[in-house]
Amino acid sequence: MGELALDRVGLDYEGVPVVRDVTLTVPAGGVLAVLGPSGSGKSTLLRGVAGLEPLVEGRVLLDGRDLAGVPTHRRGCALMFQDGQLFSHLTVAQNVGYPLKVRRQPAAQARPRVAALLELVGLGAYADRLPATLSGGERQRVALARALAADPQALLLDEPLSALDAGLRARLAEDLRAILREAGTTTVLVTHEQEEAFAVADTMAVMRDGRVVQHGSVAEVWRAPVDADTALFLGYARVLDGARARPVLAAADLPPHGAVALRRSALRVRDDGPLGGVVEASRVSPEQLRLVVRVDGVGDVDAVAPLGSHVGPGDAVRLGVDGTRLAPLAEVSHPSGP
Ligand code: ADP
Ligand code: MG
Repeated sequence: MGELALDRVGLDYEGVPVVRDVTLTVPAGGVLAVLGPSGSGKSTLLRGVAGLEPLVEGRVLLDGRDLAGVPTHRRGCALMFQDGQLFSHLTVAQNVGYPLKVRRQPAAQARPRVAALLELVGLGAYADRLPATLSGGERQRVALARALAADPQALLLDEPLSALDAGLRARLAEDLRAILREAGTTTVLVTHEQEEAFAVADTMAVMRDGRVVQHGSVAEVWRAPVDADTALFLGYARVLDGARARPVLAAADLPPHGAVALRRSALRVRDDGPLGGVVEASRVSPEQLRLVVRVDGVGDVDAVAPLGSHVGPGDAVRLGVDGTRLAPLAEVSHPSGP
């Protein structure tokens, strides 16, 4: 394993810029999530690191070695995609051992390595099964084991969980984190799901239109999104700006300028709350009552109340502000919300 460094990387398709000025470092053994909407250039960036697309600007260094001119198969990178692309006619063990076979590793060495990898991904008992007999999640685990087989210095994962259904995705994200920690491989995980980035990575780079708009620890980025678009993309429910932001900022003891991004549960019904409004709509969720409240001077905002509270449309309520569930924003690009 080694440190992966991208230095002002740019990529084009047929002369059209697709990725520009991407500078990122993933420390040895670290996991970086590259998060961004569809079409933001994530896969292209990954293909550039792997050597599948030529850089038009900048450099990629792995463990201090400049990869310019180094062909894909000599880069020490392993790639894995959304559909693990297993060989359907090979067993699970043969799939995982394939990279070792290509490297002409003697079977006596390969066999224990394959067994250890299958244990690592929780498929120790599946060695002789064919891919067609596995669930989607199991197939992705096999693909991950195969990607790790040749001891890559960097593991490049392109939406590895995106083809799975939501429940399985959440569970496998947890497992993926544990597997990557244990394997200790430097990893770049590309995803458009913020939950996946939060669950798996240490650091996060948010891409938009081919550029990295924010980069930092997962907690930092989540706590302080750089702008309104990023906040909404990260799953904040609403962004208020200008005069509409002021009452909320004041209620949270924050300086009264700029915009504010609110999570759905940033405002809670509380008798002595500093904000007042009238309930417009209410809906029961498993954990709480979800409200839309028209707050004086602010407009419609999301709020929550404990399950079983007797508030409904037309009722006047007071709202308290949970400062850990909102983020002040320095600037507003396109304030919006659902
Ligand atoms: P993401 O992975 O973030 O969804 P991509 O890297 O796949 O984004 O695509 C970034 C941009 O490059 C998009 O506008 C896409 O249409 C374009 N693009 C991707 N692949 C090709 C290609 N092979 N030829 C031309 N344009 C492409
Ligand atoms: Mg993609």
